[in-house]
Amino acid sequence: TNEIQLNNTQVNNTQDNVTFTQVDTRLNGVIIVLVRNSELHQLRKTMRSFEDRWNKMYNYPYVFLNDQNFTQEFKTMTTALTSAKTYYGLIPEYMWGYPPWIDQARAAETRKQMGFRHILYGDSESYRHMCRFNSGFFFRHELIEKYDYYWRLEPGVDYTCDIEYDTFKFIKENNITYGFTISLLELSDTIPTLWKTVIDFVYKYPQYIADNNFIRFISSDDMATYNGCHFWSNFEIGDLNFFRSEKYLKFFDFLDRAGGFYYERWGDAPIHSIALLLFLEKSKIHFFNDIGYSHPPFQHCPLNIEYHNSGRCFCDPANNFDDQLGSCMKDWLKT
Ligand code: GDP
Ligand code: MN
Repeated sequence: TNEIQLNNTQVNNTQDNVTFTQVDTRLNGVIIVLVRNSELHQLRKTMRSFEDRWNKMYNYPYVFLNDQNFTQEFKTMTTALTSAKTYYGLIPEYMWGYPPWIDQARAAETRKQMGFRHILYGDSESYRHMCRFNSGFFFRHELIEKYDYYWRLEPGVDYTCDIEYDTFKFIKENNITYGFTISLLELSDTIPTLWKTVIDFVYKYPQYIADNNFIRFISSDDMATYNGCHFWSNFEIGDLNFFRSEKYLKFFDFLDRAGGFYYERWGDAPIHSIALLLFLEKSKIHFFNDIGYSHPPFQHCPLNIEYHNSGRCFCDPANNFDDQLGSCMKDWLKT
């Protein structure tokens, strides 16, 4: 008999009357998926890819979050794709909606104006709630609270290389707080006053800024201007406790009070990135160059030919966003 109990702390392997007991060395990690019921089939494709490339080896649990109740169909069809545990959570209203100080008429007028100007998601109300949730709340949702490490997964993304190690263990052992695969320029029309607000924060709370911070990656003029570079947050592997820290929570509250999630269209990606670069040193932020990852319209494909000749990757190395217009990888490698 071969009895393997995944998800338990022990794996019992009984063979020829000899019992091996292997200790489960997985960390307290979770895969976080914010998703709508309507994205079920895009998500199934993504989960299939993510399981095949990585999670079938580790069986880290999934937490699916939604501002509406998940359907039974959604739960059945996603749970079916993994041997890992799956949990489904509703996002409480205070994490997905206007805080009381927001002038909703002004927010609606902003959406109208940004819609006329054809700014991406400029006219969307739900997109703003989503960005605010991902900036300030995902790490303190009740289903997430007990975890230390997370991997963010989105419907529609694809993993194009086998990932042959436990990435959570990797970041823990290397003292890394956050890892990314793609870094790019933000649309400046979505964040007209974000940088000014960041400067105000830095003046008010200078004690939070790391001595050896890496802000020069996004500002080459001593913080006078923001160059727009950020880590694309649809992929994130990180330490949840960073976001739960006093400095990050203060930072989020300060930005939230300023109203830019609604009066402009601040994204969670520049907000995570700016915080990481202000509060940490460079060594705490890791570029996962070995992870093939696609979120249309961009993909990161490892260039190392051995990854392709060995069969580990199936992406086209000639289609790699790192050296395309809009990527910030040149600055990352330079600074
Ligand atoms: P983009 O990557 O910036 O183009 O934005 P996406 O449409 O991919 O949204 C980012 C993430 O938030 C994805 O995981 C979506 O499934 C999720 N998302 C966006 N809007 C909503 C929403 O209104 N409700 C829920 N439950 N999830 C959302
Ligand atoms: Mn997306």
